[in-house]
Amino acid sequence: MKRIFSSFDRIAVHHAKNLLEAEGIRAEIRREMLSSAMGELPPAECQAELWVREDADAIRAERILRFENRKDLGPAWRCAVCGENCEAQFTQCWKCGAFRSAP
Ligand SMILES: [Zn+2]
Repeated sequence: MKRIFSSFDRIAVHHAKNLLEAEGIRAEIRREMLSSAMGELPPAECQAELWVREDADAIRAERILRFENRKDLGPAWRCAVCGENCEAQFTQCWKCGAFRSAP
């Protein structure tokens, strides 16, 4: 099991799961119900998480999601902490978890 994606936006997490399953990658959503506990838990604990069942699928799954995101969103941004290029819709760096800083 490997976590591949997390978001406060449950719809985005479900969409990502559908994309992976369309490619034959088995995935499951965890912590989905915790979003209702916002305010009582640290925010990072309240994101819905998408996990792939087979670690070997993780790299392919990340590629699928990154490609999908690139298709219909604006330009990528560069993480101020680790320098990784992150897709426009992410509010956190996919690599190191740093929050996007204001432009
Ligand atoms: Zn980063």
